[in-house]
Amino acid sequence: MIDACELSPSWIRGIAPYVPGKPSSELAREMGLDERDIVKLASNENPLGPGPAALAAMQAALLDIARYPDGNGFDMKRALAAHYKVDAAQLVLGNGSNDVLELAGRTFLTSGTSGVYSQHAFAVYPLTVQAQGATHIQVPARDFGHDLDAMAAAVRDDTRILFVANPNNPTGTFLSGEALRAFLARVPRRVIVVLDEAYTEFLPDADRYDSLSWLPAHPNLVVSRTFSKAFGLAGMRVGFAVAHPDVADLMNRVRQPFNVNSVAQAGAIAALGDADYLARSRKLNADGMVQIVDGVTRLGLRHIPSRGNFVCVHVGNAGQVYGDLLRRGVIVRPVAGYGMPEWLRVSIGLPEENARFLSVLADVLKPAA
Ligand SMILES: *Cc1c(COP(=O)(O)O)cnc(C)c1O
Repeated sequence: MIDACELSPSWIRGIAPYVPGKPSSELAREMGLDERDIVKLASNENPLGPGPAALAAMQAALLDIARYPDGNGFDMKRALAAHYKVDAAQLVLGNGSNDVLELAGRTFLTSGTSGVYSQHAFAVYPLTVQAQGATHIQVPARDFGHDLDAMAAAVRDDTRILFVANPNNPTGTFLSGEALRAFLARVPRRVIVVLDEAYTEFLPDADRYDSLSWLPAHPNLVVSRTFSKAFGLAGMRVGFAVAHPDVADLMNRVRQPFNVNSVAQAGAIAALGDADYLARSRKLNADGMVQIVDGVTRLGLRHIPSRGNFVCVHVGNAGQVYGDLLRRGVIVRPVAGYGMPEWLRVSIGLPEENARFLSVLADVLKPAA
């Protein structure tokens, strides 16, 4: 490390970089495969591709990209406020919801404070806590999901933020609305509870709950949502938070003025209004989940029941199986970095992609003759 790097705070130098899913283009280069033959089920992306309304709106918005975007996101906030029945002043727009999670960290954490999150939870939470020089408090999971009792008990005097993902990534575990509400009632008001609902649109009707309606009673709640998953805009990088207006105001102060580009804003507004695309996404995911779960069960493998658009499958030597799948052009996600070295996470794809994954997996697991 060069001398200048030694001047960086120790907690920055200690950050373990986020490992994204392998891009298809990279695998194609490495293995000499044709990119079109590669199936990527590694990043919980929407296999339908972008919706037609979003695509048209983004193409139209391209004509205006010599201009800066609206830094206050007036039109997008108006659309979100109407759709979700909240006030525009409660909204914080983000370059993906990842940005929103980080904004929460930057607004409330500093060295000498602490952030609480669960074992096996989304990797961005520890990154966000560490980037502020705050102390990590990782709470052991229960059955791969958040142990809310243990998380409430882990809150210390110096705790400023607590992260909950529902459904959680990578495990797909789910907490009911009642469980979350009881939890909020127990957490001290001085602790910001970031409820990350990146996959909420995939929940079956029976599991739905309305966290936004809890905001008036819980001004310490920050709900984050994304356009990357069910809305099909992962590459555009757009998400948002809904919070108490005072909390949103603080988060907006540390936000980069133009963090969400104009094309993304246009795409998000159109995607929000495209109920047909969302319904197709949900149906495709529900059917694909059955297909994958049935398939792996027939192969004698265990899985963690998931409410997201992905599922974790127990394969034993996951590093080996991951590599064998890669060599056959199928990209899934190893989750050893999440403390799950015997599992692979597979995103739900199109029916033919799911079928390809299952047949290649069967091949890979077949005992050598
Ligand atoms: C995918 C995901 C996000 C969203 O990421 P974006 O930055 O919005 O693309 C947030 N939280 C969890 C748990 C996720 O899995």
